[in-house]
Amino acid sequence: MTTAARKQNFPYKRVLLKVSGEALMGKGPSGVDPEMVDMVAADIAAVAATGGQVCLVVGGGNIFRGLAAAAKGMDRVQGDYAGMLATVINALMLQNALEKRNVETRVMTAIRMEAIAEPYIRRRAVRHMDKGRVVIFAAGTGNPFFTTDTAAALRANEMECDALFKGTQVDGVYSADPRQNPDAERYAQLTYMDALSRNLKVMDAAAVSLARENSLPIIVFNIHVPGAFASVMRGEGRFTRIIETESSSEH
Ligand code: UDP
Repeated sequence: MTTAARKQNFPYKRVLLKVSGEALMGKGPSGVDPEMVDMVAADIAAVAATGGQVCLVVGGGNIFRGLAAAAKGMDRVQGDYAGMLATVINALMLQNALEKRNVETRVMTAIRMEAIAEPYIRRRAVRHMDKGRVVIFAAGTGNPFFTTDTAAALRANEMECDALFKGTQVDGVYSADPRQNPDAERYAQLTYMDALSRNLKVMDAAAVSLARENSLPIIVFNIHVPGAFASVMRGEGRFTRIIETESSSEH
């Protein structure tokens, strides 16, 4: 761990942050809100400035989802490729916002498009991270029928990250949607099996299973609270941790 990261009491040396497309959407029904992108970039920059090694997987649901397009008659595979391209738009926006804050970044895509980003090569990605660059993984896994949650679990394992942070609109995993049910209970900690069997909609099952196989902790927090990423990295604030132990709920 770097001295700066230790000074901040980050228990993690290297983490992957999954930023969903929705997190970049702001209040509109779709698209990208540059203010939102900048807010997320500010949080990432704060962690990077302290020496925490961060890589990102960016979603694309704010622009295009293959499944939704298929429901309206589009070929599913074509739709999924369009969805993967949508993640590249978000990645470039995030790269721009981070570089404005003097954070050195690299975008790496699972589908080659070398005019705008490097192709994903694991060893090269590791080297970027060792040099303190924030690596943004775009185009998901490069395969249709997957999601960027699965891409996040995959890349986090490949990069040997200490944890996968999932930035959402709420401050953890609840027993029901807290925006619709005020009695919904927030869990401080869950097991992978809880997340899978209780259908809690944390991440898709493939992503949770992949994390479980490699004992990769998943930490769910509200990315729209300014400074939350750094606090949660220090173990402070509100979040749900998904690990391989008995479940417990917050009272
Ligand atoms: N997608 C895909 N393969 C992947 C990752 C993503 O086909 O490995 C497509 C899929 O159509 C998905 C879209 O890209 O709907 C956007 O990704 P996702 O829905 O995961 O974004 P998020 O919900 O995080 O914004």
